[in-house]
Amino acid sequence: MKANVDRDECIGCGLCSSICPEVFEMDDENIATVIADPIPPNVEEQAIEAKDSCPTGAISIEE
Ligand code: SF4
Repeated sequence: MKANVDRDECIGCGLCSSICPEVFEMDDENIATVIADPIPPNVEEQAIEAKDSCPTGAISIEE
């Protein structure tokens, strides 16, 4: 499973990195970046929760 953040859609709210810090981190420009590829199996659920919680739909997850 692999996560992706659309940088143009991210508004820097920080929600994903607080829900799943193992996969998402805010970068220097306050945009979320993916730091775990693939998503570790033990945090897949949180990564999906982060995707579902993103207010702009900037996160996508593929199998
Ligand atoms: S939840 Fe969405 S908008 Fe908020 S920081 Fe993460 S990717 Fe960006």
